[in-house]
Amino acid sequence: MFELEEQHRMIEQVFRQFCEKELAPQVDAMEKGEILPFDLIRKMMDTLGLGEMLRSALEKRLERKEGKGEGDVLDAARQDLLNSYVIIKELARVSPGFAMSWGAGIGLCGMAIINKGSKEQIKKYGIPVISFDKIGCWALTEPEAGSDAFGGMRSVAKPDSDYYILNGTKTFITNAPYADIMIVYAKIDRGQPKKEQPVHSFILERGMEGLSTGKPFEKMGMKDSPTGEIFMEDVKVPKNMLLGAEKDNIRDAAKESLGDERSGLPAMSLGIIEKCYEQSLKYAKERVQFGRPIGEFQAVQLKLANMYVHLQNVWNIIYRICWMAKEGKRDFAFVCASKSYCAQAAVEVAMDAIMIHGGYGYMREYNIEKLARDAKLLEIGAGTTDINLLTVARLELQK
Ligand SMILES: Cc1cc2nc3c(=O)[nH]c(=O)nc-3n(C[C@H](O)[C@H](O)[C@H](O)COP(=O)(O)OP(=O)(O)OC[C@H]3O[C@@H](n4cnc5c(N)ncnc54)[C@H](O)[C@@H]3O)c2cc1C
Repeated sequence: MFELEEQHRMIEQVFRQFCEKELAPQVDAMEKGEILPFDLIRKMMDTLGLGEMLRSALEKRLERKEGKGEGDVLDAARQDLLNSYVIIKELARVSPGFAMSWGAGIGLCGMAIINKGSKEQIKKYGIPVISFDKIGCWALTEPEAGSDAFGGMRSVAKPDSDYYILNGTKTFITNAPYADIMIVYAKIDRGQPKKEQPVHSFILERGMEGLSTGKPFEKMGMKDSPTGEIFMEDVKVPKNMLLGAEKDNIRDAAKESLGDERSGLPAMSLGIIEKCYEQSLKYAKERVQFGRPIGEFQAVQLKLANMYVHLQNVWNIIYRICWMAKEGKRDFAFVCASKSYCAQAAVEVAMDAIMIHGGYGYMREYNIEKLARDAKLLEIGAGTTDINLLTVARLELQK
């Protein structure tokens, strides 16, 4: 249970090769905004057969009259999360931003449609998003509603014969500036008080009248993952583009997506930590100052040991998340605690890696400064560290 099996090692090796050969040389151009990550994501999906595998599994599911596709690749992926986590780790070793754009498209947008959508929605929107033929995004956050995403939500959907009329703004949305398909959350307004309006999600398609997106934001990190706003002005959304039924409790489904996102973030942290640790260990043996390799100085050794502790802890957390998924165990406090610990560990390790590399760590050449900039987002996205920790305390106090 606490180690990678043969199949995971194979995935690790294949993705390591792709990332070193194909992704690493493009990171600089992506960071400068000269190229977008999406063509390379598609190349990765095609070259490694991932797109075709997911597409055909979903098509077969749709052909079946009953059942959710027990035994197919998606079911297997749900059963053994380690496969996906190893992929995220490998991408994040080179570019956490690239991993984030891929994950937001497939994991957040695609899986929301697969899990909640009708057969028609899965066919028309789910399959193209999950195979990355179309770019997906998942939009909950608003300018006035981040940590208080549900309570503070201002986006509204007013029922009008066979349509909902959507108005509102979403912000900080990964992939939004280029997304073809958007999952957007809004409150259904039937004239009841705001507090009683249920939150639902809708599938929107670029090109709908009244729907537009802003330019990509300039950011501290994750520069190779475009982030932006979505504007909805009287967007006429056919009722069949509501995700799930109106009677469903979508707040729970959205929290499930958030839970999945939070469970996926430790794998991004792991990629950052593993790469920073390996590179620092190597550098500490090679870099000579005062006539000795810097690894002989105890101050450097303590940093390396601290990195090692975080690396082992994050691996253990990931193994436990995988075990819990396999056993069907749910523990939201553990998910939130893991997310906050792993995010903080990634920031600490990346900062220590810069320190061990001295001035070279501050330069772009070693890619560590990028990992450090990208790591900070892990403490903000999918709920800030404080919000996650407060959730842990609240849930534990309720016991
Ligand atoms: C690069 C990037 C990509 C993102 N991608 C997506 C995406 O794809 N989809 C999406 O929906 N969202 C996305 N987000 C949004 C992200 O989830 C939010 O930024 C995050 O939830 C925090 O919300 P906020 O930025 O509004 O901060 P705020 O909620 O305004 O928080 C500001 C500060 O106040 C603190 N705070 C707030 N409330 C409390 C409280 N009750 N108690 C104690 N402290 C509190 C917070 O911890 C934080 O330190 C992304 C953000 C970034 C930066």
